[in-house]
Amino acid sequence: MASPLPPLSVGVRARVPAKINLALKVGPRRRDGYHPLATVYHAVSLYDEVSAGWAEPDEFEVSVSGEGADLVPLDEDNLVVRAARLLARTHGPYDSLGASLSIRKAIPVAAGLAGGSADGAAALVACAALWDLDLSAEALRTLAAELGSDVPFALLGGTAVGSGRGEEVVPALARGTYHWVLGFGHHGLSTPAVYGRFDQLTPHPAAPEVPDELMTALRTGDPRQLGAALVNDLQPAALDLQPRLRQVIEAGLDFGAVGALISGSGPTAAFLAASEPAAIDLAVALSADGLCREVRRASGPVTGARLVG
Ligand code: ATP
Repeated sequence: MASPLPPLSVGVRARVPAKINLALKVGPRRRDGYHPLATVYHAVSLYDEVSAGWAEPDEFEVSVSGEGADLVPLDEDNLVVRAARLLARTHGPYDSLGASLSIRKAIPVAAGLAGGSADGAAALVACAALWDLDLSAEALRTLAAELGSDVPFALLGGTAVGSGRGEEVVPALARGTYHWVLGFGHHGLSTPAVYGRFDQLTPHPAAPEVPDELMTALRTGDPRQLGAALVNDLQPAALDLQPRLRQVIEAGLDFGAVGALISGSGPTAAFLAASEPAAIDLAVALSADGLCREVRRASGPVTGARLVG
């Protein structure tokens, strides 16, 4: 089959947010190695961008710039390459599609913010537009779940309850905007290492369930109520692997956060502020304290992977 002619435009760009987990309840390790999860995802305004341009058939290349770029693989392991190939194989005239992909990262790597998964979701959205594929939301969601547990949420955004391995997502009833301060760690944490430590520290975890208090707090929109309900079963394992994180959490609470937790498998610490001005004060105090590599403010919820420009 002849290759479709490249469009006149140079390409398309998608923007995708980081996630934090407001609740992360982890069950016993399954035979397939995965842990069943009950989680509440929350998308925050810290964005990566993925651009996709036309390339020769079967050519998939990627470049990365920005936060932690040197830690991101440039080969077939990169989630944007895997996403583009999966989309071409399942929905396109595979032999005639290729993509030149570039990622601009603001989401730190191996930080518990699902940056790689976010990039995968953005690549699905960008390549579907680049190749002019007529895909339903459901078809995109199925591909996302195949790519990784956090990818379907990165497509959806907002605040959502995740189950299974985290790939089954349902929007949550939530009111209001929350103001967060994120403290980035000096070193990443490997997700498998954190789960391994969780298994050692928690020999008999209960079947995971999202706490009712958290869902109630989300419906009220009251940050103090939400702050008191934040929970992460992986936090003891992350603190055990990086004991300095304990000081980070304590510092944020001392500086007035109404809630604090490690996001996902860490090491990012997420602090909830009572208001936007309180978040500004908290970010200034934490930055001056110097415990974190970098401190950023973000608000949530925000929408998932979308085309921009
Ligand atoms: P998880 O999604 O497992 O919680 P995380 O949020 O802690 O992980 P990521 O930033 O997603 O961490 O990176 C995890 C690993 O994924 C990295 O160490 C890197 O080797 C790999 N990776 C593959 N593609 C990407 C990408 N586009 N951006 C970042 N990391 C990527």
